[in-house]
Amino acid sequence: MHRLTLIFLLIFPLTIFSQEVALSRIEPPFWWTGFKNNNLQLLVYGKNISTASISVDHPGFVIKKINKVANPNYLFLDITINAAASQVTTTILFKSKDKIVGKYLYELKARKQGSADRKGFSASDVIYLLMPDRFSNGDKSNDDVAGMAEVVNRNNPDGRHGGDIKGIANHLDYIKEFGVTAVWINPLLENNQPKYSYHGYSITDYYKVDPRYGTNEDYQKLGEAIHQRGMKLVMDMVFNHCGSEHWWMKDLPSPDWVNEWPVFTRTNYRAGTSTDPYASAADSKQFVCGWFDNTMPDLNQRNPFVKNYLIQNSIWWIEYAGLDGIRQDTHPYSFKEMTAEWGKQITTEYPNFNMVGECWMNNPASVAYWQKNALNKDHYNSWLPSVFDFPLYDALNKAFNEPEGWNTGILRLYDVLSQDFSYADPSNIVVFADNHDVNRYLDTQKNDIRKLKMAMAFVLTTRGIPELYYGTEVLMTSGDYNGDGNKRKDFPGGWFGDDRNAFIPEGRTNNENDMYNYLHKLLEWRKKQDVIHTGKFLHFIPRDGIYTYFRYNEKEAVMVIMNNNEETKTIETGRYDEVLKKYKSGTDIITGTPVEDLAKLIVPGKTAMIVELK
Ligand code: CA
Repeated sequence: MHRLTLIFLLIFPLTIFSQEVALSRIEPPFWWTGFKNNNLQLLVYGKNISTASISVDHPGFVIKKINKVANPNYLFLDITINAAASQVTTTILFKSKDKIVGKYLYELKARKQGSADRKGFSASDVIYLLMPDRFSNGDKSNDDVAGMAEVVNRNNPDGRHGGDIKGIANHLDYIKEFGVTAVWINPLLENNQPKYSYHGYSITDYYKVDPRYGTNEDYQKLGEAIHQRGMKLVMDMVFNHCGSEHWWMKDLPSPDWVNEWPVFTRTNYRAGTSTDPYASAADSKQFVCGWFDNTMPDLNQRNPFVKNYLIQNSIWWIEYAGLDGIRQDTHPYSFKEMTAEWGKQITTEYPNFNMVGECWMNNPASVAYWQKNALNKDHYNSWLPSVFDFPLYDALNKAFNEPEGWNTGILRLYDVLSQDFSYADPSNIVVFADNHDVNRYLDTQKNDIRKLKMAMAFVLTTRGIPELYYGTEVLMTSGDYNGDGNKRKDFPGGWFGDDRNAFIPEGRTNNENDMYNYLHKLLEWRKKQDVIHTGKFLHFIPRDGIYTYFRYNEKEAVMVIMNNNEETKTIETGRYDEVLKKYKSGTDIITGTPVEDLAKLIVPGKTAMIVELK
């Protein structure tokens, strides 16, 4: 033994030399060439991997910096991709004491042609929101998968019901035929939690589709099938929190990877603290750093490695699955400097892409703060192109259910829209009557189908991007209000052996067919209406429970009259002259009948009349 080695052995305990070094995973698992940003940061995980020496064998793939963190089982490699490199596969070699302890064939794929130019969802689209566990079970064999903690139990409203990607794929023709143009699927990534995992918001692997839904390849193929039908795919993403069973929770890269508290501290859910000029530091901190739930650890996006990890994850899925849009969960709950950086980087790579953030507040000013290019006093720019119109959702829930008053009833819709001056871009706001987190609209209206039709007519003709929640077309309800599970019931006919199949007319009741046909007609009509997609909006102060608005452009105009009274009303339209004077007649697009006399219109109670003007 060499004398120096002997000294070394005396200084360092022998165990360090017998320590196991191994490579377990690298994320992102592969990447692409041809991005504007040629930097990439790889998370490398494995037992004592930070003690290994690293080499690569391709000149187009350069390790600029090796970052070590508190936990020796992690490395973060800063990579620069040489502009000349195209479709590279490099071997990343990990060695310990000259012994190979890990070898990873890292692939840089060529981007699909036109990838950067993809056009995100817009007001010319209608988004169909569905929950994958609850839409259709196309493959019984994946209901239970070895290694997945929660097993299927369709009798439990909060359990897993077995829906999957195959089930969605089987019904793409149904979705297309219905008339929507985009599909937002609630999160599909692995949620290997012991219970209450079906909703998908407790992600345990950011690079893997949950095997109970299918594989990454299945998701990619689903995207292709959606595109083949001329529709768009919107992915639901979550970066405020992960699942408590996420693989890294057992061995965190550093103590500040998640926001830790001395004792479990829940967020106060007061998103308004982000914009409140009088917010206390304590409240603001609890909002952003508190945990969404004890099973949902709060990620610390101020940690630069967490930040890069999440941003790259989004870009990876856009490129891999051919996404047309992202819906970002609990958007204001993350550190807002990071989410702005996320929006900026995605927009840099995909200038026409669209992202909508869940900024759940009930007044336009608070929501508007979060839309890209808002004129905020603190100069914050979110780089988030779209937000959900929660104020309008709130108004829609009340508008048809209460007596008409100075500031109640249908005036609520008018009132919210009149505050659109708050928004940087009111046409890029997602409008909805309900979603997976709230009571189904029909429940809030005590099953009054007339009110559902009014709400749908409004959502599909007002400014913005409509979103419809799956099952609305067949009058799905929660039945009772016990828990979220019932807001997300199984689509009838989506499961083998269901006693009826509401995907086909023969399987629906008369009322369900009536609703389906109503929406189908509106959706097909809306597809061709530039005036609804991009036209201006003009409305008149509601009077006597009548709310009238117009969508118009240089060439055409559509008039919508909502009668919130129980009784039929005859409406003298002289008040609307500034728009109507240009037109002589029209067509009621619901009944298909001509409207010969625009001066006097008869609108039945609790009805929206939509008139295409000529
Ligand atoms: Ca299944």
